Amino acid sequence: MLLCALNALAWVYPEHRDITLLALQRLDPAQRALLEKLWSQARAGHEARLCAQMAYTAQGAQPTCIDYAAWPAISGDHSCSARDMLGIVLGSRWILRVARVGARLKNRLAVATRRDQRTNAVRDSDLALVRADRDYLARATANNAHFPIARSSVSIDLPGYVQIALRPESELNALVIYMWYHLRALARAKSIASASLPHERYAQAARATLADEAFALHFLQDSFAAGHFAGTWGNAAVRKGTHDYYNEHGLDAVSWDNRRFVALGDANMQPGDADREASAVRESLAQLASALHGKTGATVAAAFKMPEPEGFNVCRESHFSGAVGELPEISGGRTDHRSDTDTRIGPRQRSAAALPGGDWSVHRPIVRR
Ligand SMILES: [Zn+2]
Repeated sequence: MLLCALNALAWVYPEHRDITLLALQRLDPAQRALLEKLWSQARAGHEARLCAQMAYTAQGAQPTCIDYAAWPAISGDHSCSARDMLGIVLGSRWILRVARVGARLKNRLAVATRRDQRTNAVRDSDLALVRADRDYLARATANNAHFPIARSSVSIDLPGYVQIALRPESELNALVIYMWYHLRALARAKSIASASLPHERYAQAARATLADEAFALHFLQDSFAAGHFAGTWGNAAVRKGTHDYYNEHGLDAVSWDNRRFVALGDANMQPGDADREASAVRESLAQLASALHGKTGATVAAAFKMPEPEGFNVCRESHFSGAVGELPEISGGRTDHRSDTDTRIGPRQRSAAALPGGDWSVHRPIVRR
């Protein structure tokens, strides 16, 4: 039962972290510099816990600090909201144990040549995580939100799919959580760009911005795992079987711009998977950097009334209900001339333009039969 529940978490900790490392490395140097600056400001007062490097590629088997690349790995699987995640990263002792379990799993997966070696590495890691993080199992048993919603027909296009994912009656899903948190990160970044804040408050705002984006990235990354877009319906045994089979053996997938590829999942990530995911994550981070530079048209949703990261709880909630009407609006990198107060537009008026850039095109989640 324990391992049954834990086996449906999508990418494992070191895979989430590696995707983010790759995406940070691929950023345009000017954009990367903007994010590095934000990271160094965010570290103020937490220099021991937060690594000096945003992407600490030389981190060994015994991490003593948490870098930004680890934040999406901690999001969702070890925390229930961006606010929860940041609190855990800064204030808990156990999160370093989780980071060490992740580092050990990375090393074991790197040398595994047989299926049983991979399976044993993941099982050992899961058992160690249950000991390190006392809420790990509870989060893992209610994790439908980490899956994208199924398409309703083969003819649906990306804007139509986004509308379905955003409908108040749709079950909480990976795409809508990504948008919810990413758009908040953009709005906050734009506020930072135009605000003049005292040092301490700036550091707090920098942490909140980075936390919202990291939480979003976890769900963007999850939506690429084969076992996650192969479907979430059926009883627990069917779901687990579907999830495990396609993660291991792969799924013939098509992106929204009609590129075909074979997708894999949890603990089976291949360079091609990391490459596709890192492109989407890089695009998302590039939008964040542009917003910091005042180039993205995110309307400012009074972000500084809430210097804390977003607190929407993805473990507890099953729907966004009326809350989707409060998503900040962006306009694909162009300046948005809407009034700053005009943020309460209905989901029908939003489209795929709210997703990161034109290059953002993942698989199409399978049609529900
Ligand atoms: Zn997940």
